Amino acid sequence: MSNLPNCPACNSEYTYEDGRFLMCPECGHEWTLEGEAAMTEEAQVVKDANGNVLQDGDTVLVIKDLKVKGSSSVLKMGTKVKNIRLVDGDHDIDCKIDGFGAMKLKSEFVKKA
Ligand SMILES: [Zn+2]
Repeated sequence: MSNLPNCPACNSEYTYEDGRFLMCPECGHEWTLEGEAAMTEEAQVVKDANGNVLQDGDTVLVIKDLKVKGSSSVLKMGTKVKNIRLVDGDHDIDCKIDGFGAMKLKSEFVKKA
């Protein structure tokens, strides 16, 4: 078997390639991998305060003091955050910070280290 993705319409695993298209024999759906990749890319571009594109696993620096929700602690400007993970939503960076634990940050308040 190949490692083609399942059908996005019916989730069948019996998909096959036909030229630049992927076909599903079960529901007749056809689609392209390029289209899918382009859409994913567009949805996942997260930029730091300087407009640099961030990626999973990047190390970033906090560029201003940030209040930590639900506590009285403050995440200090200059705090290094390693191994970030990009997520959807208002706070688009998932990370773990020493002394704070798991938290979410906004990409506009960090810059790539
Ligand atoms: Zn299908």
